[in-house]
Amino acid sequence: MENCMFPMEFLRVTQRPGIGSHRGSKAIDLGGRDTGKDKVYAPFSGTVVRTRKGANGELYLVSDAPVRFADGSTDYCTVTFIHDEAFNVPEGTHVVQGQYIYDEGGMGSGRPHKFGNHLHMEVSRGKVSARQVANKYGVYCTAIQMDINKAMMLGNDVTVMDAGGMEWHRRTECEAPVQAQNAYTVRAGDSWWRIAEQQLGSGTKLYKLAAANGKTVNSPLHPGDKLTLEV
Ligand SMILES: [Zn+2]
Repeated sequence: MENCMFPMEFLRVTQRPGIGSHRGSKAIDLGGRDTGKDKVYAPFSGTVVRTRKGANGELYLVSDAPVRFADGSTDYCTVTFIHDEAFNVPEGTHVVQGQYIYDEGGMGSGRPHKFGNHLHMEVSRGKVSARQVANKYGVYCTAIQMDINKAMMLGNDVTVMDAGGMEWHRRTECEAPVQAQNAYTVRAGDSWWRIAEQQLGSGTKLYKLAAANGKTVNSPLHPGDKLTLEV
């Protein structure tokens, strides 16, 4: 399963969720490096289900399969990208995670350069309708928005310039910890005591360890034998 990844190289939040033109919305605006138009990369593999040239330059990307979000939950995902002036990936294109698909821009109400270059982004849980509907404040939103910092993980190479007061998580923090080992393969030189000491934390557990494996502490151990550590 793919992780849902933050789609730019630089994280600079220029407008937070819930305020101004994001009232009642979980959208964020991103300014990237602020040295022109930063590139935007696919946060997961999916299909560009709709582009809207003119208007606000929207592009909607839907995941191929459920993805893993930063909060550990999983589902299909739809991401809305807004303000590009020139699409480099046409509607209907299948893209792979990490592919360059979009640019910051200033497209607004059909006018290029109406705004300073930025990316307005919304993340929705599930496969939602590729369109925006006005909320009670008159702010246009895609359905079933997620908190973007709880949805997207930051790759270790993303440079955080302004986190917007939001708590973001690196991919490495989000990945499930390695499962505690419950089995062990005997190596040359092992003894019941040594395995109990190293794997169970106490050499005196050798009796339990042997019993759990249907043996006694006098049973020989051979390299390659498989033992359960569930004692
Ligand atoms: Zn915005």
